[in-house]
Amino acid sequence: MKICVVGTGYVGLVGAAIFADWGNDVIGVDINVEKIERIKKGDMPIFESGLSEIVSRNISEGRLSFTTSLSEGVKKSDVIFICVGTPQSETGDADLSFVRKVAEDIGKHLDGYKVIVVKSTVPVGTNEMVRKKIKENLTYNVDFDVVSNPEFLREGHSVEDMKNPERTVIGSDSEKALSIMKELYAHLGRPIVECDLRSAEMIKYASNAFLASKISFINEMAQLCERSGADVSTVAKGMGLDSRIGPKFLNAGIGYGGSCFPKDVSALYKTSTSQDYDFRLLRGVIEVNKLQREYFVNKISRYFDGTLSGKTVGVLGLSFKENTDDVRESVAMEVVKHLRGLGAKIKAFDPEAMYNAKKVLGDVSVDYCLDKYEVMQDSDALAILTEWKDFSNLDLGRVKTLLKDPVIFDCRNMLDKEKVESAGFVYFAVGKRTNGTELLDKKSHNSSGVILRDGK
Ligand code: NAD
Repeated sequence: MKICVVGTGYVGLVGAAIFADWGNDVIGVDINVEKIERIKKGDMPIFESGLSEIVSRNISEGRLSFTTSLSEGVKKSDVIFICVGTPQSETGDADLSFVRKVAEDIGKHLDGYKVIVVKSTVPVGTNEMVRKKIKENLTYNVDFDVVSNPEFLREGHSVEDMKNPERTVIGSDSEKALSIMKELYAHLGRPIVECDLRSAEMIKYASNAFLASKISFINEMAQLCERSGADVSTVAKGMGLDSRIGPKFLNAGIGYGGSCFPKDVSALYKTSTSQDYDFRLLRGVIEVNKLQREYFVNKISRYFDGTLSGKTVGVLGLSFKENTDDVRESVAMEVVKHLRGLGAKIKAFDPEAMYNAKKVLGDVSVDYCLDKYEVMQDSDALAILTEWKDFSNLDLGRVKTLLKDPVIFDCRNMLDKEKVESAGFVYFAVGKRTNGTELLDKKSHNSSGVILRDGK
């Protein structure tokens, strides 16, 4: 099959590579000249395990190429995937300007029957808008079909997810387009959900909003556990063994972030209001998510008696989750900004996201460190903000010698409470009572203003 992929970001680049690996002729198109030049040289603009090797192999075997010319991409292919971004607009809706522009440009270059596939996450009704825009801009009087094929890959696992999707959703009102799409995916032997365009668009938002709801739910449970003496990790384990619930997305922390959940939950809420419906549950999910990070920053601030000025917080993790270099809407980055705003100095380390973090944080002054232990050197506290597996293996003896004050804010429940406390740290976790929680409780009950710090 001859395929064009428009937009070579996390979804488009991985998609182009895997489609080529399946034996198709694929051309990737992006307006970002620098990105295309880097990819052509085999220098991946994103960090995804296994991607570089697949791209290089398929380029050298002649199945995969890249260009900045949409006209070239459209002319050389029968199926065109739209994989451009749909970021959150100022109103909270999905910004469809990139999708709209690509649809208009495809229309101008369409020179025969082709299937245009919208893979970007788009609100209900967008595929119909894409069809309209293409039609309005046609240069030649040609036939075409529009198909909705939302993507469910997880950043950090995108190669394996694209190769082995748990399901493929194909929304189409054309038998011809549907059979072309099924031909592309049939060899995977995975479930294919065939449906109308609007249901396909909605499946993507419903899935992300449901997962985000699970996270906000467990974070609310964490608040309750911390107050009542239960342990949220144990509660989540007990819940997750129920096959109706499942263990995933039940890790209490500082809330969901990333390039998808925040914008998709917001866009779905906006869709509901545009349909004169108030999706109350989603409103709660969004509010809980915002409060969760504030709650943790507040804990750090309270530990230092409300003033972070002159204090240094060593931060582990900047990406929005583990195994990615993506810092878009990363809660860790928000916490860093918030702590800086309260006067704290920040020393930070992330295994993959430092380059992106520097670009995004810009003027926000951060001392970027070369490894996890360097952030602790002379810091007043350590905060674990992203759940990189490596952060769970800290040499506690070494950490203690490096920190000025042996206090750890474990915002992702990475460490073993008993081990950390018995190693002599003041420990804060999410949704469990620790010696840190007890300490803050004593502080707030100590009306004399004397600060109690367990033996300090
Ligand atoms: P991205 O920002 O990483 O990549 C988008 C790319 O599109 C960029 O390289 C940009 O230069 C390019 N682009 C913009 N306008 C263009 C144009 N006119 N012509 C050619 N290229 C153009 O975005 P992403 O993370 O890959 O997400 C793409 C879509 O897929 C979004 O709708 C997103 O919600 C959805 N999605 C993302 C993920 C994820 O994990 N990142 C997962 C599932 C779905």
